[in-house]
Amino acid sequence: MTATARLPRSIRNSYRVPRPAVVSFSGGRTSAYMLRHIVDAYGGSLPPDIAVIFANTGLERPETLEFVEVCGRAWGLDIVLVEYDWDTPHRTRVVDFATASRNGEPYAALIDRKGFVPNPTLRACTHFLKRDRIESYARHRLGLKRWHAVIGLRADEQRRVLRMRARNCGSRTGAHAVLPLADAGVREADVLDWWKRQPFDLGIPSYAGNCACCFLKGRAKLIRIIRENPTLADWWIEQEAKVANRTGPDGRACESMKRFRLGETYAELKAAALSHRDLFDDSEPAPDESAASDSFDCHCTD
Ligand code: SF4
Repeated sequence: MTATARLPRSIRNSYRVPRPAVVSFSGGRTSAYMLRHIVDAYGGSLPPDIAVIFANTGLERPETLEFVEVCGRAWGLDIVLVEYDWDTPHRTRVVDFATASRNGEPYAALIDRKGFVPNPTLRACTHFLKRDRIESYARHRLGLKRWHAVIGLRADEQRRVLRMRARNCGSRTGAHAVLPLADAGVREADVLDWWKRQPFDLGIPSYAGNCACCFLKGRAKLIRIIRENPTLADWWIEQEAKVANRTGPDGRACESMKRFRLGETYAELKAAALSHRDLFDDSEPAPDESAASDSFDCHCTD
């Protein structure tokens, strides 16, 4: 146990994370806030046994990749970009800003391999495209057997915080989650406030972050995103079409594995977004889905 770990939580700097550590950087405002505060806690530069990794699905908006690049440059960090690739050892390809996939290639390759599309209860995308890639890099490239996985969950995300802490009790992967933002009591408003005072920012509203049309976003958000940029829905429509004829082992249709969202395909969602039918019922974001809301800063962390 380190001297820092023995201090009472009230006077411990939670950003001085235990090491070795791997920081999961989602490319959102919250995890960038956390990253900057960790850098500051270490006097302006990270020690060599703290790595920062961004797992690219290929469906992040260009502004997110640019934000990752700018954070790295502005803060003097070597942020590692990884992607799922079945043909690369340990299924993990290291890319950079220039070579990162931008058309959902890693995600589409996973769907081809598995034969079904993920959904809210079977989040193979989170598992294979993000968590496994970061763990694979830590284990096989960094040579770590046990490490601290630093995750940007805030104090106002209590359900996810509790779930993550509970999972730690039974962790068999070698990754022990550390949640400095939750420990420091940081809430969404603190993060947004801080970004207002920075010389650069993520170039998109937070609701547009992560995989642009992620099935975990509320319908109102998706309608809004698709209405603003209808072509964003096309990749999702294409993936659902690829597995449309899928059946289970007994030959029966297996609806849940053909759709990202229950009850509505992305083709139907796009049609609704572009029709006037929904103009007056859900084009406005729900109270928790405002353009400023950072409530969707990578649900992929849990
Ligand atoms: S952002 Fe959504 S769609 Fe993308 S990997 Fe995470 S859960 Fe899957």
